[in-house]
Amino acid sequence: MKHLFLGMAANYEDGEWLRHLFTRGTRRDLARLKEYLSKRYDGKAILCKNGRSALTLMLEAYFEPGDSILVNGFTCYAVYEAIKAAKMKPVFVDVSKDTLNFTTETLNEAFSNSSSARGIIIQNTLGNPVDILAVEEFAKRNNLTIIEDLAHSAGVRYPDGREAGTVGVATICSFGKEKSIDTISGGAAIMRRPCKHAIKAPSKVPKPSDHLRARFYPMFGATSRMLSYIKIGGAFMRLLVKIHWVERSADNKLDTTRRPSKFQAKLALEQFEKLRRHGEPPIREFCLVENRTTLLKELRKKGYFFDGFWYEKPVSPARYYQKVHFPEEACPNAMFVAEHIINLPNYYTRRDLRPALKLIKTYKMEAIK
Ligand SMILES: *Cc1c(COP(=O)(O)O)cnc(C)c1O
Repeated sequence: MKHLFLGMAANYEDGEWLRHLFTRGTRRDLARLKEYLSKRYDGKAILCKNGRSALTLMLEAYFEPGDSILVNGFTCYAVYEAIKAAKMKPVFVDVSKDTLNFTTETLNEAFSNSSSARGIIIQNTLGNPVDILAVEEFAKRNNLTIIEDLAHSAGVRYPDGREAGTVGVATICSFGKEKSIDTISGGAAIMRRPCKHAIKAPSKVPKPSDHLRARFYPMFGATSRMLSYIKIGGAFMRLLVKIHWVERSADNKLDTTRRPSKFQAKLALEQFEKLRRHGEPPIREFCLVENRTTLLKELRKKGYFFDGFWYEKPVSPARYYQKVHFPEEACPNAMFVAEHIINLPNYYTRRDLRPALKLIKTYKMEAIK
């Protein structure tokens, strides 16, 4: 039986992990990626250790310590961490069950309880674009500065045809595991408007341990997927995490002083160019299901390892959820979605996924979509 994985670097199948392991990058590749991003997003690009460091830098550049920032209520812990590191306050905004994004209604509601908010981070959850004209109008009316987060949505277009990343004062990208550009770790920020506070662009080289972890993760993933056929893939991965040869995405440290590795710059640029050629941006198709635990078990029986879907808590991963003090009452939709969502990896064809889709369909909540 063929096993299909969501996670464990399954997007590096077919020997891609070999290329990742041996690609050589140069200083020139760092410069080329910066140049490319500056042009594509029409601003001044800097390269960062990861997406959260890029976000912290942009918040520090455009806001004041103590400012409140409106943020999607269905998100990744990295976003919360970045806002906290910039000494600002996240205000979680409830999402629509159809798009997983905030809407003008939920924005209005959150803003009326927190009218000191100065900024808003657009996330385009799982590659679904926000209703940009409405959000822009809302931001303008309330004097809010927009930052765009492309971790899920590099290459995505808004309903009005503009590309995501070309609207706000600044744009950040994550090149972390399974993001729309994936080089295991890495990130970038593009400053599109003059900033209030000068920031220092990251220039220190990556720590050797981070460099090695980024190099070897796809190979470890391939090994662990193979070992899954004899049922010890999971144990192998857990061991690698324990001895710190593999780092879980959420644990990647925020550090605004370091840049990514040179080979990562080279690979990121290739992926951006591929994105352009394909035309179709990667989107993680989602649906809301009943009895997700049972469904995941059934999927496993059919050879589909889907457990790494996004997200099992409104701010994920679950092991950090308590730290966030999430406003559960104010975000009922985000709570509901976290309980019922399942989403598909974007690196398999529909044909590969057909048996899984058939099974998922029988669990689908009809009332929603
Ligand atoms: C993953 C993620 C980030 C930041 O990613 P890093 O792991 O720090 O590279 C930012 N925003 C969203 C929405 C994300 O999912």
